[in-house]
Amino acid sequence: MKDDTSHEQDALDFVSLSPPVWRASTVVFKTLEDFVSRKSRLPDGFTYGTTGTPTQRQLESRIAALDSAQHCVVTPSGQAAICMVLLATVRSGDHLLMTESAYGPAKTFALQHLTALGVDVELYEPRVGKNIESLFRENTRLVWLESPGSVTMELQDIPAIVEAAASRKITTAIDNTWASALGMKPLELGVNISVQACTKYLGGHSDVLMGSISTRDADLYRAIRQLQAVMGQAVSAEDCFLISRGMDTLSVRLRHQVDSTNQIAKFLQGHPLVKKVLLPSLNTSPDRLIWERDFSGSGSLFSVELTTAPLSAYTAMFGEFRHFAIGASWGGVHSIAAFYPKEEISARRYRPCDGPLVRLSIGLENANDLIEELDTALQAFEKAIPS
Ligand SMILES: *Cc1c(COP(=O)(O)O)cnc(C)c1O
Repeated sequence: MKDDTSHEQDALDFVSLSPPVWRASTVVFKTLEDFVSRKSRLPDGFTYGTTGTPTQRQLESRIAALDSAQHCVVTPSGQAAICMVLLATVRSGDHLLMTESAYGPAKTFALQHLTALGVDVELYEPRVGKNIESLFRENTRLVWLESPGSVTMELQDIPAIVEAAASRKITTAIDNTWASALGMKPLELGVNISVQACTKYLGGHSDVLMGSISTRDADLYRAIRQLQAVMGQAVSAEDCFLISRGMDTLSVRLRHQVDSTNQIAKFLQGHPLVKKVLLPSLNTSPDRLIWERDFSGSGSLFSVELTTAPLSAYTAMFGEFRHFAIGASWGGVHSIAAFYPKEEISARRYRPCDGPLVRLSIGLENANDLIEELDTALQAFEKAIPS
């Protein structure tokens, strides 16, 4: 029998292509001195399970590289990443500008919980561009962006907003989940903080939740890492492993999914029951110029406005779905369809249409099968409209 130390030596000689999964609540130290000075290891080092493991740091470095960032902190979900950034950047008495097209739960957190903490939250028009300047106040601390916006898909003029904010030393943060860091690099456009819901494309298989926060700013990084630890927002090493595995195939998955998305969007654009396809990469998009300037790749998520019809027509349509699962998340290998009622869309002050909207996330299924299914579903939709 070998003793423990020789097994440790063997382990050091073991190298595989996949990142080791290190599990820990407790981190142990060689000496009392090491233990007493453990906090000096932060923000990168290891002190306790909540501040991270080597598996987590490997993933963070990988995401930082993809984001053109120096630093990254991963969180238990995309929503946790959003809340963490907001809590790290605004406090009582501050003014927060958030695009009205932001992810719903992000707006809820800001409007309900940050407001309760004394933050003045203002929703602004997604296509505001450099006119954001007119909304700045003495106490404006943060501008929150999301491009394209959730469900309504408006692109934002990121460089114009960033320039205005930077000239007043206002921090900018963006939710970059749609294109992922593969298709758009907000930090290269001057945004201070970029958030992704890794749950979507980086994970890619609808089986893991995670968020990432990337930045080039060491002070912001330190503040966010500290908040992550003291709020106990630890991520599991297994989940880090799954996101890292997802990243291995990110570019091939996205290429296929976006290719199918373009075919399906074209089919829908030509369909007589379709009023509008909301997808920034289309020639007909009002954001086409921004699209070409700021993005190198697309996401596979878009929204569709259909001809006026009662809810029962949508029920008939969704009843035909076999490949499309009915659900709220997106970005994975399985196609998903979601529905946003008219009341929800038209409650927004700034919106490209009144809704309702059908939102499709295109997965890895055969594009022709998906087109056929949509064709059948639209026939059922039409049949259910009372004449
Ligand atoms: C899904 C989503 C999130 C939240 O991600 P979770 O990991 O599900 O919490 C944030 N932003 C956008 C744009 C999303 O679509």
